[in-house]
Amino acid sequence: MEMGCCGCFGFSRRRKAIARPEFRIGGYRSVLSQKPLLDGGGEDDVDDVDDVDDSFYNGESTNMTQGYDESEVSTGAKRSEEIINFKIRNGLVCRQFEVKETRRLVRSEDENGIKMINEYIREFKIGSGSYAKVVLYRSSKDGKHYAIKAFHKSHLLKQRVAPSETAMTDVFREVLIMKIVSHPNIVNLIEVIDDPDTDHFYMVLEYVEGKWDCDGSGPPGGLGEAIARKYLRDIVSGLMYLHSHNIVHMDIKPQNLLVTQNGTVKIADFSVSQVFEGDNDELRRSPGTPVITAPECCLGLTYHGKAADTWAVGITLYCMIMGKFPFIGETLQETYDKIVNDPIYVPDDLNSQLCNLLEGLLCKDPDERLTLEMVAEHPWVIGEDGPLPEFLCWCKQNSLQGDMHKVDTEVLPQDLDSKAEGESLTL
Ligand code: ADP
Ligand code: MG
Repeated sequence: MEMGCCGCFGFSRRRKAIARPEFRIGGYRSVLSQKPLLDGGGEDDVDDVDDVDDSFYNGESTNMTQGYDESEVSTGAKRSEEIINFKIRNGLVCRQFEVKETRRLVRSEDENGIKMINEYIREFKIGSGSYAKVVLYRSSKDGKHYAIKAFHKSHLLKQRVAPSETAMTDVFREVLIMKIVSHPNIVNLIEVIDDPDTDHFYMVLEYVEGKWDCDGSGPPGGLGEAIARKYLRDIVSGLMYLHSHNIVHMDIKPQNLLVTQNGTVKIADFSVSQVFEGDNDELRRSPGTPVITAPECCLGLTYHGKAADTWAVGITLYCMIMGKFPFIGETLQETYDKIVNDPIYVPDDLNSQLCNLLEGLLCKDPDERLTLEMVAEHPWVIGEDGPLPEFLCWCKQNSLQGDMHKVDTEVLPQDLDSKAEGESLTL
């Protein structure tokens, strides 16, 4: 079979090969997972070989569709593609400049062993996850650093993440979502390199040099209130922007929050994000990482993505303040048990406004949980900095200037949009 070119696929769906927590309180199907509770990975992380370009997986050639009904894969992949393509067709894209799409890949190595991907010169590995390595490169054109997230298409296609989906669909969705967003608190996707004649697939991202992690390496007892407030304000700004554009992130956690040199937090890693239509953010798939999973995701079949993201913001704030996750057990089951049943522990001397905010964010009942709009107005968040800065996004700016293309009357195919015919998508 011919290797697909991701740029040509147009789109897909998602899913990390996460062992879906089969956990349901009351009717447990207990799954004692070996998988890290702090990571989203279902797949074992790619091994830590130095040469990301060549061998971060043992890419044997494979029948990529073995065991799959291809039509099933493409049908399932269509939904997010349709939603996003609808937005693109109607000018509802939040980017002044499109993501560059490069269909030709030249990989080279000089006499000193320094490797290049097109114009990018390899420096060193900066991260890795379930399916990708992230490597620092410097562009020989503009001299700037870029973080390049590298995948092998054949490897992605071999990883089944749901009965009718492979990891490739997750990566397609990640790219497609990143292609339509632009916000100061979201990592920018600059270029996608996808040569149909090679197995390599690269996302060229703006490089964000700093990172804050909840791995005990930070100051004891967390980051301190002032920094935590600043970071939280950035996270809430970025996430409110995503939600207002019908995107739920589903993996907000310290490892996916990068910090620039001047202390701005940027949300990264859209690998388990979802796009929804209208106001319906109801999801079935559990989110990416056990320790940030909201109680309703452990308990029910469906849950609301925005409220689940908000819970993850609460977990992240707790980590920033306390330097550790509030609910973590020895096993996956114990972790979910704590998430559902345990009250949060906060020290007696914690700032009462902050305590109130944490309790509001980490409210077990999603209907009672604070919304991000409430968080943005919370006295602890406002502090002395005042309200969160307004962000007029590109698509709304266009719309205000009357430049936006008239929303076309075409609607999504009926099976993809349960709304009445003729009604258009709302952003
Ligand atoms: P995964 O889906 O595998 O978790 P991520 O997108 O989260 O992949 O990237 C893995 C790691 O690589 C991150 O936790 C971070 O340390 C690093 N990383 C990712 N993107 C960037 C970036 N734009 N700048 C700097 N580091 C990054
Ligand atoms: Mg990640």
